Amino acid sequence: MITPEKRFSKLIYKADNICIISHHNPDGDAIGSALGLYHILKKKKKNPVVIIPNHLPDFLQWMPSAENILLYQNNPNEVCKKLAECNLIIMVDFNSLSRLGKMENCFENVTAPIVLIDHHPYPDIKAEVMFSDIRVSSTAELVYQVTQASGLIKNIGKEAAACLFTGIMTDTNSFTVNSSRPITYKTTAALLKYGIDKDEIYRNVFNTFSTERMQLLGYLLSEKMVIIPEYKTAFISMSLAEAKKYQFKTGDSEGFVNYPLSIKGIIFSAFLMERKDHIKLSFRSRGNFSVNKLIAQHFSGGGHKNAAGGEVFNMTLEEVSQKLVSVLPIYKELCD
Ligand code: 5GP
Ligand code: MN
Repeated sequence: MITPEKRFSKLIYKADNICIISHHNPDGDAIGSALGLYHILKKKKKNPVVIIPNHLPDFLQWMPSAENILLYQNNPNEVCKKLAECNLIIMVDFNSLSRLGKMENCFENVTAPIVLIDHHPYPDIKAEVMFSDIRVSSTAELVYQVTQASGLIKNIGKEAAACLFTGIMTDTNSFTVNSSRPITYKTTAALLKYGIDKDEIYRNVFNTFSTERMQLLGYLLSEKMVIIPEYKTAFISMSLAEAKKYQFKTGDSEGFVNYPLSIKGIIFSAFLMERKDHIKLSFRSRGNFSVNKLIAQHFSGGGHKNAAGGEVFNMTLEEVSQKLVSVLPIYKELCD
């Protein structure tokens, strides 16, 4: 029987122009996985391009070849053309085409085979080859393992290693969550052998925010955090006016949702952010509380058991906050 890894390496062998794509509002794992693969395929003398639907946050712009990423929002026609003409599409770190926003429309004209490498539950993408594993810490970890098993490993260099390390580091919140399997550390150890400076990568990602972002965080924690002890819940909401006052830039809210989880007894934390035409939700939990189910059933979105996100249209920030409080009793049993 021909293994998925063999089929993957055959598809790579046959293809020259390869599109690597990831999701809307990309995070460190999305970009780390995509650019990691990009560097591996470059070394293999292929012609890869990384495409994302929208803005790359500042804290990821240092990544090697980030400047070569193509944004659909800046050039939709060129992106649709590339997707229609390439020989292979590799999708990383998402499980449904709806995570591409408007870029999903380009897929009407796609004929190239699709490979999916992802760690979200319930993938619903029709792919020629699918590597989908919810046990891995991150898609970046899975990219390493897939490239190893399919014989591409000799094409990993320092740049690819830095990108894949970033994906693992960000999705595990610096090895504090989703990181209890020994293989995650074996993979990380293998990446460190390529001479990357992990401390510098950490600083590039987590220690390059503006003064205003720090002050916004202080304001939200002291003035806007709502604690609901009976449901072991804490949530923070941020309006557009508050964001503006602190000169908010995309990426500034990264990590805000994690802070309330460091309070003793809190197992569910939510961050609600007003945007121009919708409310962006970020949910995090500890243990058995499935935030992906909560968000899918009562709001709009998905993700992992302990980390989920979504977007709600046609409701105000206040209405979403009230709805969140109103659905908590249904989940009380999960808090006990
Ligand atoms: P974050 O809160 O960091 O934006 O997202 C946490 C996780 O939730 C992401 O890794 C992703 O899996 C998922 N997620 C975020 N936003 C959305 C969304 O709009 N729709 C869906 N289905 N999943 C999302
Ligand atoms: Mn991920």
